[in-house]
Amino acid sequence: MLPSDHRPATLIPGGAVFPHRHLTGIAGLAPHEITFLIDEAEQWIDANRARAKSDKRLEGLTLINAFFENSTRTLLSFEIAGKRLGADVVNMGVNQSSVKKGETLIDTAVTLNAMRADVIVIRHGSSGAVQLIADKVDCPVLNAGDGSHEHPTQALLDALTIRRRRGSVAGQRVVICGDILHSRVARSNLLALTALAADVRMVAPSTLMPAGVERFGATAFTDFDAALDGADVVMMLRLQSERMNGAFIPSTREYHLRYGLTPERLARARPDALVMHPGPMNRGVEIVSSVADDPARSAITEQVETGIAVRMACLDVLTRRARGVDGWA
Ligand code: ASP
Repeated sequence: MLPSDHRPATLIPGGAVFPHRHLTGIAGLAPHEITFLIDEAEQWIDANRARAKSDKRLEGLTLINAFFENSTRTLLSFEIAGKRLGADVVNMGVNQSSVKKGETLIDTAVTLNAMRADVIVIRHGSSGAVQLIADKVDCPVLNAGDGSHEHPTQALLDALTIRRRRGSVAGQRVVICGDILHSRVARSNLLALTALAADVRMVAPSTLMPAGVERFGATAFTDFDAALDGADVVMMLRLQSERMNGAFIPSTREYHLRYGLTPERLARARPDALVMHPGPMNRGVEIVSSVADDPARSAITEQVETGIAVRMACLDVLTRRARGVDGWA
């Protein structure tokens, strides 16, 4: 079902405007909308490599980064993205938040709304929390990760990285290996990459594989070596210990033996296969340093770079309605 504010881009004078008010997930986005966001991000990569990086299109707007769960790269990435576009950026970390003092999510939303921000980026430990806040505030909301649900900007930056390195996403065999069950990165990537017609293989021990990945058009594997056959991209994920209650794997050593990416294992993929990881990495568990740090194969630092470009694009696109540009006047 399309959201109530959905308007096909083709019906809007001026063309490709993004019809959604918020970006809470990849779910609900049409393939051409995903492509639109990554096309928009493309322009910022060159701009970010220039010495003078600033563009003032968000000047006078306030961006609140409300992070109720720890983050290093995503928070910094949104902060840099907002500043490069000229926004006033305010960061609210988990340590300062009243949630620790028992405030409800609704009260948090009401408070954030009263601050009259122009765009709010939220990370929260509970799946669905970002949508709940988005429903209560007047400005666009971007999901920077909610529990094990979605992390849409990560999936967009991953798709952009794959497109830049491999020429396209369609037809690429992408193997995603790790704690699929608890990973919002896996979920958002499954949705984005299948929407863009990649051949997606999800790999995990059966205890860490959610039911029904086939329904989204992916293939599930418990045997990493078998899944690597013909892989164009190998995306490794961390064990999300903070979301596990109970034992899902016998030991990290055992896990590494079956699911760790080593040079020997990577040799089963195509000779030019790309290695990706959203970070933070647990070196020696899901990936060894000689693979992660191999500039010929690893796109891990490039993912960080495309991340800023994607976040700039999303901040720009979601504030266009308020700024009265691109079909929203
Ligand atoms: N940084 C990613 C996330 O926030 C991946 C991870 O934490 O493992 O979901």
